Amino acid sequence: MIETVGEAFDAGWKLKVKCDRRRAGLKSVRSCPLVHELDLDSLIWTHGWRCPISWLNSHLRCPKCGSRHVLTFWVAPNDADQRSA
Ligand SMILES: [Zn+2]
Repeated sequence: MIETVGEAFDAGWKLKVKCDRRRAGLKSVRSCPLVHELDLDSLIWTHGWRCPISWLNSHLRCPKCGSRHVLTFWVAPNDADQRSA
């Protein structure tokens, strides 16, 4: 079970994020099409090895529209390989 950014980095995971904005004021809007890959190396520099990955979900913010509704996708290096260790 991976719980920190450091463990995810060790396991070779990659983190992709996407804006999930649904509303602006009273109007519903489209989310930004941007999908961005976050650099785990930089995250560890700034937040430390022990930063919990759940922290990211509540603190990420879309740089384009400022929305805090951001989807995160963790991509394991061997997604095709489902063997467990
Ligand atoms: Zn956005």
